[in-house]
Amino acid sequence: MQTQDLMISSILTHAARHHGSGEVVSRTEENTTHRYTWRDVESHSRRLARVLQKLGVAAGDRVGTLAWNGYRHLEVYYAAPGMGAICHTINPRLHADDISYIINHAQDKVLFVDISFAALASALAPHVSGSVKTVVMLTDAAHMPPMTLAPGIALACYDQLMDEADDNYAWPSFDENTASALCYTSGTTGRPKGVLYSHRSTWLHAYATALPDVLCIKATSRVLPVVPMFHVNAWGMPYAAALTGASLVLPGRHLDGASMAGLLNSERVSFTAGVPTVWMGLLQYLRSSGDRLETVQRIMTGGSAAPPLLIEAFRDEYGVAVEHGWGMTEISPVGTYNAPKPAQVGLTTDQAAAHMLKQGRILPGIDMKIVDGDGNELPWDGTAFGDLKVKGPWIANAYHGDEPDSALDEAGWFATGDVATIDPDGFIQITDRSKDVIKSGGEWISSITLENIAVSHPDVAEAAVIAAAHPKWDERPLLLVVPAPGKTIDPASVLALYQDKVAKWWLPDEILVVADLPHTATGKLLKTDLRTRFKDYYVRDAKA
Ligand code: ADP
Repeated sequence: MQTQDLMISSILTHAARHHGSGEVVSRTEENTTHRYTWRDVESHSRRLARVLQKLGVAAGDRVGTLAWNGYRHLEVYYAAPGMGAICHTINPRLHADDISYIINHAQDKVLFVDISFAALASALAPHVSGSVKTVVMLTDAAHMPPMTLAPGIALACYDQLMDEADDNYAWPSFDENTASALCYTSGTTGRPKGVLYSHRSTWLHAYATALPDVLCIKATSRVLPVVPMFHVNAWGMPYAAALTGASLVLPGRHLDGASMAGLLNSERVSFTAGVPTVWMGLLQYLRSSGDRLETVQRIMTGGSAAPPLLIEAFRDEYGVAVEHGWGMTEISPVGTYNAPKPAQVGLTTDQAAAHMLKQGRILPGIDMKIVDGDGNELPWDGTAFGDLKVKGPWIANAYHGDEPDSALDEAGWFATGDVATIDPDGFIQITDRSKDVIKSGGEWISSITLENIAVSHPDVAEAAVIAAAHPKWDERPLLLVVPAPGKTIDPASVLALYQDKVAKWWLPDEILVVADLPHTATGKLLKTDLRTRFKDYYVRDAKA
């Protein structure tokens, strides 16, 4: 067989050559709808590679982005790795202090910034002037925001740089194990940690995620990643779309229910992907406006557990399948996807709904196992739960800057920090983050299971279960609930929902109604914060 390095640029040249008229549509920061094709993305990316050269970017250099999902951001996605540099997507929702830490840790040389982050970039500038030499605003000359940057950092306009450059550039070929992109995990505890992807890992991940039993992306698909391109490469969809020739719809920054429904319908989107909060927002909008989803067939949900209501409401009221996936920054990010096997084909509606709550089965190419506290592998019986470990060619072996393999155990497995069951068909169900699981009298209680039951109550908008220290049982579950708009919550009626659903000793000892719950920069419950506030709740109670 021939040997050929798997280059990210060749994903794009394939799209340009074989799916040249495939569309890329963007809602821009200038409030327009921009349309062009994969052929254009490729030639623009070559032009951008010339711009990067002019800005002094060389192979191995980091190119940072602070941007929503849009075509200029997509061009950076391909131009930087295409020339051998590294596309470092930065999550603008993080604390400014964490962002400057990340930029300095990554040593970004250039930053590409959306105009809505102009103030953020100006505020960051004095703290990152040791590494950043140029800030390029992703807009045209007419929309350049007034900005002052720290001395030593030049300000430039993307469209102007592009107009001045030519596209006389040939994509180089080099070792497929070269770094291509960099993402930092949001760091709910401690400082963010960087995960460095390679050309090879990105290719393999794109191949696996496009498969029929995973995202099922094809040339006729019109896909809309709601998940931001600044969060784990929008789950790899910018690559999988080009690989398959699918049309790509990039929504910009307006991700509320009304904007999403409008864009999904006007762009005839067939498949979309994002976190449960976005889908809950869309559902609320559809229900209150009476709007329908005209073309969407499937919604991928991931990032945190999908509440049952989400899956059932979209299926029953809108005829749309909500499909569950699981992954993490360290896994590029997709690790499992819930697509049926022959055993699931004849399930009743109720059985199917229960099955869809599982996060799915492993993608081909990588492997998983669950282990107990001593590292012994646990059975795949759907009941035993333990620490979930993974292994494979798109899974990190160390964090950026650390020793190779330092994130692995002796046998080469990566501990995900998630706790899960695996059923006899190989479907995992995440029962907790290992630091969130409630250890009551030596047994484990799943906080996610308890939260899912609480949010099935019509008056509950959001729920969090945390492990609170307990004088007798070490830890006991404490349930915090936020009322739905205009509702009051009767705790007894919430507690009643648990009857017959979980063992008696799993029942939350107490239910507290709170006005709101804290979230991380990626919209997940910030349980560390809740634990600090409430961990002594039962202890205080006992003393009183
Ligand atoms: P961060 O939370 O720091 O942004 P990631 O986006 O990498 O980092 O989050 C990965 C974590 O999100 C997983 O380890 C898991 O705990 C959680 N997660 C992802 N998908 C799911 C899912 N479908 N169900 C439950 N938890 C999920």
